[in-house]
Amino acid sequence: MRVLQLTGPKQLAWHEAPTPSLASDVAAIVRPIAVASCDLDWPLVAGELPFPYPVTLGHEFVGIVTDIGDEVARVNVGDRVVVAFQPSCGHCAPCRRGTTSACTSVPKTSMYGVGSVGGEWGGAIADFVAVPFADHMCVVLPANVKSVAAVSAGDNLADAHRMIAPHLVKAPESVLIAGGLASIPLYALLFAKALGINEVSFASAERAALDHAEQLGANCLELEKPDRRLGRFDLVVDCANQAELLHTLIRCVNPGGVCASASMYFEGDVKLPLYEMYMKGVSFHTGRVDSSAHLNEIVALLRDGVVDPLLVDTSIDDWEHAPTVFAERRTAKAIVVRDEGGSV
Ligand SMILES: [Zn+2]
Ligand SMILES: [Zn+2]
Repeated sequence: MRVLQLTGPKQLAWHEAPTPSLASDVAAIVRPIAVASCDLDWPLVAGELPFPYPVTLGHEFVGIVTDIGDEVARVNVGDRVVVAFQPSCGHCAPCRRGTTSACTSVPKTSMYGVGSVGGEWGGAIADFVAVPFADHMCVVLPANVKSVAAVSAGDNLADAHRMIAPHLVKAPESVLIAGGLASIPLYALLFAKALGINEVSFASAERAALDHAEQLGANCLELEKPDRRLGRFDLVVDCANQAELLHTLIRCVNPGGVCASASMYFEGDVKLPLYEMYMKGVSFHTGRVDSSAHLNEIVALLRDGVVDPLLVDTSIDDWEHAPTVFAERRTAKAIVVRDEGGSV
């Protein structure tokens, strides 16, 4: 079969790879019909992440089920499904607790589309993808949910949702989201407004991101310098990936509030103002999203029209253009689609 492979910085081309087959009675084979860029794909393609090549790209996807094992009960051949980007079983202790990113039935950090760092699962810009635990990892899309709207449900949409929804128990009246023209911060903005936070602010050093956030209804704060005063907020969402900005963001949190971070600080020794956080009772949340655990809830929110991800700066291109679409970020979200019988 044909796959899109990254063999060096911005070196993207179609390659031949073995077609996957059913590995067990609980597995499925899915033919991707829509694949989206994850925010991580851009630095990955640019060679800015410590991930070895080659990488078969793509891990946010919707596809059609083409084969199922004898024990698969919740999906059928022909179903249109969105698939979690982290393989997980649904039965082990971490999966039962909802920490599906730490599933013990698969190798640690199992993921599609990031090369050997994620294991031997391949990527989604491919003719077929093997799904090891179909009932747990696939959610059938309702007819009213477009594939291009649901394509990020298994990753960036779930990541944005968890930046906002779990913290609503503290009834935040204000939220500050910091990030660039990327999908997680802008989806978080959509969720913050849709889930009823009164005052939604967006901070960025990127003019294009601020313009877009303003169109989506946020108060915009230009980040000329990392130590700029931004105000006080009950909830602060860090999608900025800037260690020097993190102190500023944490200092913006009102007493008893939360700073939720979707950033990956690869350098690993970022300091936190722990004494100040202690005195103010500020919590800091970090960690990988639990893709399978969120999938049903995200699809239900899309079905009910709570958010429309397509309001965020998104491009949709033909599948054949994937090598150029994924070479460089032009929009917050880039999607390629393969239209086979109008199913996209
Ligand atoms: Zn991702
Ligand atoms: Zn598991």
